Amino acid sequence: MRELGLVNGNLVDMSDSFIPMEDRGHQFGDGVYEVTKVYNGRCFALRPHLDRLYQSLRAIRIPATYTFEELVEFHELLIKESGITEGAIYLQITRGVAPRVHSFPEQVVPCLTMSIRPSGPINPEFKERGVKIILIPDERWLRCDIKSLNLLSNVLGKQQAKEAHCFEAVMVRGDHVTEGTSSNFFVVKDGVIWTHPATNLILKGITRSIILERLAKDLDLTILEKPFGVPFVKGAEEAFLSGTSTEIMPVTSIDGVAVNNGSVGPITRKLQLAYARLIDEECHR
Ligand code: PMP
Repeated sequence: MRELGLVNGNLVDMSDSFIPMEDRGHQFGDGVYEVTKVYNGRCFALRPHLDRLYQSLRAIRIPATYTFEELVEFHELLIKESGITEGAIYLQITRGVAPRVHSFPEQVVPCLTMSIRPSGPINPEFKERGVKIILIPDERWLRCDIKSLNLLSNVLGKQQAKEAHCFEAVMVRGDHVTEGTSSNFFVVKDGVIWTHPATNLILKGITRSIILERLAKDLDLTILEKPFGVPFVKGAEEAFLSGTSTEIMPVTSIDGVAVNNGSVGPITRKLQLAYARLIDEECHR
């Protein structure tokens, strides 16, 4: 088993690969990315991840120079050649390499880089007992729906969470709670699940969509895509995060105040179990 990279369709050792100095991803964050989880040697929910990748490319006007089938093939190749069965595949496409001028270069070929690594361990206790989060101001731009490489606000927010000994920082823009620095955010109030609508102010997470379109339906849970504020969150019965790497993560403390007396609520638990079953169905059968 070894970590492995792929640059413009060719396999490379991670230690050998290099990024040209004038790659626009490197200099401007001019590109988009996706992360897909690998369970039991198979990609989970690859189609929606690739659909979102094409949407992000369109949004920032980078031409799609790889077909869906090619990208699937590259994911499979990385799994096969690395021998990694439990991991994550990172993919990014930048506008390409050109002398540093802000406007788009005339003739430039988008640059695809991918890598596979074993999954970083998420402490199983977090899943079992829940995590702490802090609320911070959302200082990002107004196109958070694009999965772009510009993650500086997210990086600073996650570091703030780390320094506060918290798992995640959830952001607040004006009167509304938007999402985590690398996850979507949900609360349960009077038995109903609430999450911020999929506007330009959040990333429409694949895990979020799975919860909305499949798990909540299968479990007959009521779910609302409606903005809510900090007092609403502080009065919530349950709270949880969702994301490809985060999966479904119970939140049991917000800004130092316990949620549900500090224990994981029943709706969050049901969703966690249903999500694990779905992974099992898609990747283990
Ligand atoms: N919001 C942000 C800002 C993220 O970075 C992520 C992780 N990519 C998510 C939400 C969750 O999205 P997904 O479920 O597609 O991983």
